Amino acid sequence: MRGDKCAMCGDPFNGPAYLVNATRWKGRRRWGTRELICEADYLRGRPDPETNTVPLDVDRTGDHFQWHPRPTGRGDLLPPTPCEGCGLLVVRHGDPLLKRVTCSASCLTSLSDSRNAARGNKGSGKPCETCDQPITTGRADSRYCKPACRQKAYRRRTAARPHV
Ligand SMILES: [Zn+2]
Ligand SMILES: [Zn+2]
Ligand SMILES: [Zn+2]
Repeated sequence: MRGDKCAMCGDPFNGPAYLVNATRWKGRRRWGTRELICEADYLRGRPDPETNTVPLDVDRTGDHFQWHPRPTGRGDLLPPTPCEGCGLLVVRHGDPLLKRVTCSASCLTSLSDSRNAARGNKGSGKPCETCDQPITTGRADSRYCKPACRQKAYRRRTAARPHV
């Protein structure tokens, strides 16, 4: 769930948002999810860094969910990093498999959607740098209308380069 409000207290984030593992429920159905909570709520419920024990008396229950002090990744806590989807500052644990930081599944989806659209063979619409035809296929940043034009440009560049 993309959020600009803390899932615990409902306040808008005025600092980094902490991504935490959580369990949600609806009726008798339960499922694992992730929630974004504010620093104050996170610090209240995280394991004590010195003893590595988790305070038991802290209420981590929000509206239909409970968050867990279990880390969101296998690595160390990362410094606040802007979500690549919406720019929200997110604190989460690093993970060897983590490629980019996003605050939520919806940001990850919209990010891969826009990347796919960029790859979606629509080209840049700009004129080809070799033949001036508008570029209608390939990536959004392509500079040539077809591979042959890219080849031609490449050959021209290498030919123009002085021999040393
Ligand atoms: Zn909060
Ligand atoms: Zn986001
Ligand atoms: Zn061309």
